[in-house]
Amino acid sequence: MWTPSFGSPRHVETTIPCHQCGHAVTARRLCREVRIECPECGEKAPLEAYAQDMDDILEEFLQAVFCDRM
Ligand SMILES: [Zn+2]
Repeated sequence: MWTPSFGSPRHVETTIPCHQCGHAVTARRLCREVRIECPECGEKAPLEAYAQDMDDILEEFLQAVFCDRM
C-alpha cells in the first residue's frame, strides 16, 4: 500500500468528545487555522474551544501543521 512520505493530512480523527453530542470530533486544517468538526452532529468550533481537551493525535496533527508553514 502506498503511503505518502511527505506532507501531512488535512484532517485527522481525534479521540476528543464533541461538546454537543460526545462523538469523537475531527480536526480539519484550513489555510491558516485548524477547525474542530463533529461528523455526527455537525458541530463546528475553533481549535481554542477544544484546547483543554487536546489528545496526542491532535497534538501531533498540530505539529505537522506548524511544520508545513515553514
Ligand atoms: Zn457532535
